[in-house]
Amino acid sequence: MTELPAEIAGCEECLKIGSAWLHLRMCVTCGKIGCCDSSPNRHASGHAAEVGHAIARSAEPGETWAWCYVDEVGFVVTPDGLRA
Ligand SMILES: [Zn+2]
Ligand SMILES: [Zn+2]
Repeated sequence: MTELPAEIAGCEECLKIGSAWLHLRMCVTCGKIGCCDSSPNRHASGHAAEVGHAIARSAEPGETWAWCYVDEVGFVVTPDGLRA
């Protein structure tokens, strides 16, 4: 699951608690939208650590990179999937 949804409301967890975020990431395993490590709550990396979904892509418009929180390596999102 590397394609972004047509509409992203924001970080799912921040919306629940009424917090703010800086940039958005999407878990490529389950599609969960979380906030980046520069955001106060770091929900994207929190999700990765909590449920073991290691790779998230940027959910920012025009950005096509992904990041593995476990191996700390970057990927490029292509129409065929992730490329190292
Ligand atoms: Zn968040
Ligand atoms: Zn996930």
